[in-house]
Amino acid sequence: MELNFNEIQKKLQGKIFEVIAEEADQLQAETYIIGGYVRDMVLRRTSKDIDVVCVGSGIRLAQAVAGNLGKKANLSVFKNFGTAQVKYKDTEIEFVGARKESYDRNSRKPIVEDGTLEDDLKRRDFTINALAIRINKEHFGELIDPFNGLQDLEDLLIRTPLDPDITFSDDPLRMLRAVRFASQLGFFIYPETFEAIERNKNRIEIISKERITDELNKIILSPCPSVGFDLLDKTGLLEMILPELTALKGVETKESVGHKDNFSHTLKVLDNLARTSDNLWLRWAALFHDIGKPRSKRFDPHTGWTFHAHEFFGMKMLKGIFQRMKFPLNEKLRYNEKLVALHMRPIVLSDEEVTDSAIRRLLFEAGDDIDDLMLLCEADITSKNPEKVRRFLANFKLVRSKLKEIEEKDKIRNFQPPIDGLQIMEMFDLPPGRMVGELKSAVKDAILDGLIPNEYDAVYDFLLKTAGEKGLVVVKRI
Ligand code: ATP
Ligand code: MG
Repeated sequence: MELNFNEIQKKLQGKIFEVIAEEADQLQAETYIIGGYVRDMVLRRTSKDIDVVCVGSGIRLAQAVAGNLGKKANLSVFKNFGTAQVKYKDTEIEFVGARKESYDRNSRKPIVEDGTLEDDLKRRDFTINALAIRINKEHFGELIDPFNGLQDLEDLLIRTPLDPDITFSDDPLRMLRAVRFASQLGFFIYPETFEAIERNKNRIEIISKERITDELNKIILSPCPSVGFDLLDKTGLLEMILPELTALKGVETKESVGHKDNFSHTLKVLDNLARTSDNLWLRWAALFHDIGKPRSKRFDPHTGWTFHAHEFFGMKMLKGIFQRMKFPLNEKLRYNEKLVALHMRPIVLSDEEVTDSAIRRLLFEAGDDIDDLMLLCEADITSKNPEKVRRFLANFKLVRSKLKEIEEKDKIRNFQPPIDGLQIMEMFDLPPGRMVGELKSAVKDAILDGLIPNEYDAVYDFLLKTAGEKGLVVVKRI
């Protein structure tokens, strides 16, 4: 990969680099820009985080830089880690002294000592992350590349600088980082590095769920996330992290009837969705949408393979997965549950006649997430038969225009009936209980079925009539 001196000089222009160089010279400390920033500079990707290594005290350099930058700079020192961070405008600069690391087998916390630049580059995860550019005035722009990282950038390769078995065993998180960079950058994992991940996959057990999730989120947000999940599968990591997904793999045949491989279908859906949405939780919903299929799979001699109610099984599995993965158990879980539970509904609608009542019910249940649901359903069409695809998409178009029309007319999204449960109790002097529930759902159904408009007077009259049939009389007008 070409990275000529002029180009480096251009990229390292600007106040921040000038100040770091000036203070580094003052302290007489060899200082380098290192890691992800250099990698992204070569790849012409934008990055806001700058990593700085100096041979000496990173904290002292950070203090000097923050002092020089003045009021707009914000300094945080992490004494225990020997690191410091300077925030300046929208840039974050991490400072650390060059270090040497050695590991204990049961933890990913290394024993750290001061070291040379060479020591420091050796402990980095991949050759493409082990590049350094010197910024002291006299040596400005000098590239240090002991592991041929520049060549690997050109060849699109993820490779560890040292023996990959040691690199991954020392810090198993690096296995996920390898997959993440491959997915984010569209790179390939070097065969020896890949094989070492296969051998060390069990070591992932010592990594906290939060860190794993952090990497998975980066993988799922990458431009073509199937690359990452496919690699996770092939290395054997996926089985350890999300066995519910590997359970989707495989094709079974009975009486010469097969079904599609639900794992590769799922990855296609995820890639399709990645083209239309960057919403992290919608992407997770795409990955989980068919997760209930293995549990619902049946073979019927007349109709072949069926997966009845898989959306319901899938929805029920999510809470356990979210808990285990330390995903948020708040509205993000409920959003995923809703999308997984409803993902078959628009497809069914397009098969049948698209009635107003069915549309109202869908709008009522999906609420504000209706647009995301439609994106998921459109991504879910992976048939290779162009005629089928055309028909589905045309039907979805009809569903979308009906949704719009009904929403404008009836305002069903997030709708609340004009008379609620408490008011029903007052009206008929009822204690809380089944009768109130029955009247409430009768009102809701009547509105969704289009029997009465979503308006107070109509609901009042309807309640009088329905309650009258059950022998109730009004004791209080509301
Ligand atoms: P991004 O910022 O896009 O996540 P990055 O490569 O900059 O990617 P950081 O986590 O910011 O990743 O780390 C900065 C640098 O520190 C990396 O480029 C790499 O050299 C080194 N590094 C980070 N994590 C590890 C690790 N687990 N093992 C070894 N080196 C690491
Ligand atoms: Mg970074």
